[in-house]
Amino acid sequence: MKRTLFLWSYQLHPDYLKVFQFNPAEDRLVYVNSTDQWTYYHFHKQRIVYHLSAYRHHFETAKQNGWNVTWIDASTLPEALQGQDALYGFEPTNFYEKAWLNNISINLLPDPTFFILASEWPTLLPPQKNWKLDPLYRQFRQRFNILMEKGEPLGGQYSFDRENRSGYKGDYLVPRLTFTPDTITTHWSQWVLNHFPDHPGSLDAFNYPVTRDDALTMLDHFVTYRLATFGLVQDAMQQHDPWMSHSLLSAAINLGLLSPREVVLHAETAFHKGLAPLSAVEGFIRQILGWREYVRGVYLQKGPRYLHLNYFQHERPLPDFFYDGKTNMNCLSSTLQETIHHGYNHHIQRLMVLSNYANLAEISPQDINRWFNEMYIDSFEWIVAANVIGMGLFADGGMMSTKPYIASGAYLHKMSNYCDQCDYQVTLKTGEKACPFNSLYWQFIHEKKATLQRNPRMSMMVKVWEKMDDTLKKELLETALHHVH
Ligand SMILES: Cc1cc2nc3c(=O)[nH]c(=O)nc-3n(C[C@H](O)[C@H](O)[C@H](O)COP(=O)(O)OP(=O)(O)OC[C@H]3O[C@@H](n4cnc5c(N)ncnc54)[C@H](O)[C@@H]3O)c2cc1C
Ligand code: SF4
Repeated sequence: MKRTLFLWSYQLHPDYLKVFQFNPAEDRLVYVNSTDQWTYYHFHKQRIVYHLSAYRHHFETAKQNGWNVTWIDASTLPEALQGQDALYGFEPTNFYEKAWLNNISINLLPDPTFFILASEWPTLLPPQKNWKLDPLYRQFRQRFNILMEKGEPLGGQYSFDRENRSGYKGDYLVPRLTFTPDTITTHWSQWVLNHFPDHPGSLDAFNYPVTRDDALTMLDHFVTYRLATFGLVQDAMQQHDPWMSHSLLSAAINLGLLSPREVVLHAETAFHKGLAPLSAVEGFIRQILGWREYVRGVYLQKGPRYLHLNYFQHERPLPDFFYDGKTNMNCLSSTLQETIHHGYNHHIQRLMVLSNYANLAEISPQDINRWFNEMYIDSFEWIVAANVIGMGLFADGGMMSTKPYIASGAYLHKMSNYCDQCDYQVTLKTGEKACPFNSLYWQFIHEKKATLQRNPRMSMMVKVWEKMDDTLKKELLETALHHVH
C-alpha cells in the first residue's frame, strides 16, 4: 500500500523510516515549511535556519535515495496537510503541535527515538506520587543495561554527581569543530533574514551540524576530545568560552540527526575503551538517559496547565536586557551575549545565572518560559517546561525539585571568573557597588520566609536572615529595590 509520511523538521533520524518499514518503492515523504512552525514562539533566527537547513538536507538526500518527496510551503501546517491521502506521521510531543493535527486525517505513530514511549509515562509518573529523577534513572540504567555489570552499576554506584561539581579552576581550552555554512544553510539564512527580520538573535556565528554525517562527526569529536573532562567542568563557567567540555549535541539530538540511544552507547563504549573516566561518562549519560527523558515525562503528565503555574506569584516583566545583553552584571551580560550570538548556553548558565536571576528578581515564570523557548538553538516546549517552570523557578511549588535553585553572588564567583571583570563587587552586600545577586537573594528569603521555613532545605537560610542585624537587613532590602524592574 502506498503511504504518505509527513515528517516534522525534528524527525530526521533514519529510525523514523526504519521502524515502521517505510520504503522508497511504495511510500512518499512530505515535508512542510509552514510559517506557524517558526512563529508560534518568536524563535531565534539560528533556530529557524537550523530546522530548515537540516530538513532540506534530509529532503535532498531522500530524493537522491529514490524516495518520492514533496516539499510544501504554506502559512499553516493544517492547511498543508489537509486532504493528503493515507497520511501517516509520528506523534509530536509539543501540545500545540498535537492541536494542529486535531482536524487532520492522519495515522499517528509513536516516536521511536526516545528510550521511553509516551504511553509509558502515566505508569512511571503516577499523579499521586512525588516525582524524583533518581529512582527512574536507576530503573532505566537496569532496563537498558547501560553502565551495568551483572545487574549492578559499574563502579558500585549509580551516580557520580558529587565528583562533577567543581568550580572554576583557571583557564581551560578544548578544541572545537567548525561547520562552514553550505549553499543550503546560506539559502535558508537569507530566507530567514527576509521573512523574519524582527526575530531575536544573530546569524553571524552559525556553527551547527545540519546533516547526519556532520552530527556523527561532532559526536566523535566530543567523545575524543571533551568527554573525559565533561564531569570535571560540568558546572563551571568561563568568560569567553561558552562551551568548555559540553557536547553541544542537544540541537542535533532534538532534531533527530542523532538518536539519544546512539549518543549514550557511544559514550559508554568510550568508557570501555578507556577514553574517559566513569564519573564523566556516567555524568553525561545521566543527562540524556535521565534528565532528557524525565523532563518529557513531566511535560506529558502535567499537561498544558503546567506552563501557567506561578507558585511565588511573580509578576514582574522580563527586562529588555534579556534580548540585547546590555546590563552591568557581567555574568548576565556575558551569558546573554552568547545566547544572542550562538543560541546556546550550557546548563549551569541557563540554571544558575539566568533562571536564578529571574527568580530572585521576581520575573513572571510565563515570561521566562517564553524567552527560553524563543532563544535557544535546541529549544522545544516539552524540554523547556520542566527545566524552567520546575527546576529553574520552582514555579510548580516543588514537583520537580526539593528546593528553589537560588544562589547569591558567592556561588557564581566560585563557579566562574565572571566577577573578575564586573562593575559590581561580589563581596559587597549593600550599596551601589554591591553584587545585585546578594541583596536580591536576601530579599527573596525575606519575602518568602513563611513558605521557605517549612522547607527543610531552606529553613536554615530563613533563620540566618532572622538573626541578621536590623540595620543590615534594611540596607539589603533598600539595595535590592534598585535591582528590580
Ligand atoms: C532553564 C533551562 C532551559 C533549558 N532548555 C533546554 C531546551 O530548550 N532544549 C534542550 O535540549 N535542553 C534544555 N535545557 C537542558 C540543558 O541545559 C541543555 O540540554 C544543554 O545545556 C545543551 O547543551 P549541550 O548539548 O552542550 O549539553 P551537555 O551538557 O553536553 O549535556 C548532554 C546532553 O544531555 C541532555 N540534557 C542535559 N541536561 C538536560 C536537561 N536538564 N533536560 C533535558 N536534556 C538535558 C541534552 O540532550 C544534552 O545535549 C535547559 C536547561 C535549563 C536549566
Ligand atoms: S559580581 Fe555579581 S553581578 Fe557581577 S559577575 Fe559576579 S555574580 Fe554577576
